[in-house]
Amino acid sequence: MIEVDLAIVGAGLAGCALTHCLGRSGFAGRTLLIEAGRGPGGRASSRRHRGDPNWRLDHGAPALNFTAAPQGALAELLQPLLDQGVLVKEQRPLVWLDGEAQRIDGPPQGLSYAGAPAMASLAEALLAQAPERHQSVFGCRLRSLEYSSGRWQLANTERTELFAAQRLVLTGTLLAHPRSLAMLAWGEPPLRSAVPSGADPQLDAALQAIARIEASVRWNLMLALPAAEIRDLPRQILLNPAAQERWAIERLVLQPQSDGRLGLVVHGLDDGQSITPESQPVLLRHHEQRLRSALPEVLRAWPELQRALEQAESHGVMRWGAAVPTAGGLPPELQWCSKSAVGFAGDWIKGPGYGCGEGALRSAMALAEQLKLA
Ligand SMILES: Cc1cc2nc3c(=O)[nH]c(=O)nc-3n(C[C@H](O)[C@H](O)[C@H](O)COP(=O)(O)OP(=O)(O)OC[C@H]3O[C@@H](n4cnc5c(N)ncnc54)[C@H](O)[C@@H]3O)c2cc1C
Repeated sequence: MIEVDLAIVGAGLAGCALTHCLGRSGFAGRTLLIEAGRGPGGRASSRRHRGDPNWRLDHGAPALNFTAAPQGALAELLQPLLDQGVLVKEQRPLVWLDGEAQRIDGPPQGLSYAGAPAMASLAEALLAQAPERHQSVFGCRLRSLEYSSGRWQLANTERTELFAAQRLVLTGTLLAHPRSLAMLAWGEPPLRSAVPSGADPQLDAALQAIARIEASVRWNLMLALPAAEIRDLPRQILLNPAAQERWAIERLVLQPQSDGRLGLVVHGLDDGQSITPESQPVLLRHHEQRLRSALPEVLRAWPELQRALEQAESHGVMRWGAAVPTAGGLPPELQWCSKSAVGFAGDWIKGPGYGCGEGALRSAMALAEQLKLA
């Protein structure tokens, strides 16, 4: 069993930024980052393709958006990433489509950055500055949490991986939100089972707020298009409400590869069908089919892209379970529940940049401050 002072669950932007901030401040305790995926990034990660070493596709967030020019502590966090060239200001345009697939003027482009060469580079770079006594474990999905005598015990489903920590931070909502009950057929949310109701009023309030968070689902189709000369290639093609209604697509993201090929990610909207382990394979096939068949029409304004589509290779569909929090949010004053020594970070904490990468980073910075003081 690995035993540490602080265990952080999730190596998305929030978990990596928290680890980074603790490293930068000289946090002396032993820290452990546990992640279900194979590498860091979470919803801002990049998909590789077996047997294709150069292929990298931002299959989740294609950008890091900011509500205003980063200042103060946020600017300090980002400056080294800009200096290293892993964070770059997005120069390529966003374009908008209407319900007839015609290009239209959209709202002014906000402040947008991207990871270079891919979005996963951001989390990787943040993690590079971890506290001295830090360990990361990938490919481990935690299922069970127990808290007794001031000590957290964490385990995966098979209980083959066990960890103990004095303090715990959750960055995803999987272990705390009732949503996991339907998809994974779990009983109570594991965090609720670990600390019974009434034992820590602050945690009770936090769990109630977390349960109220609503989130949207995305079905992202990933395509590899052959190398082609395409003029004025936008980074993103956003669909206005009429177009979203017609094709159930939120946007298309275009990502040139180092060898000239083009990655295309179609962000498909959900239609509310119930997602269970049994229905998921059918739904994946359904969304792949419907997104592929909509593309020639949606891309009418780009004949070169339409032609390239004929030779597109599908890399399948990725389902993002809680893609973007749409309502609710955890109030920042409930981020750290001292009695049960558990805290929260992620884009679902209320504040500037809620629901976006900015919110994930800000929440991590705020929690790092609290942990240093605790
Ligand atoms: C399709 C899509 C498009 C987006 N577009 C944009 C955009 O254009 N601009 C923007 O700024 N933001 C965008 N976002 C939002 C952005 O991706 C998120 O705000 C940000 O990545 C959230 O980071 P996080 O660390 O809070 O959460 P996550 O990235 O979700 O990290 C949580 C991590 O915890 C891990 N985890 C959860 N439960 C467990 C467990 N039980 N055991 C082990 N590990 C666990 C997960 O695997 C995950 O890696 C988009 C998101 C999606 C899905």
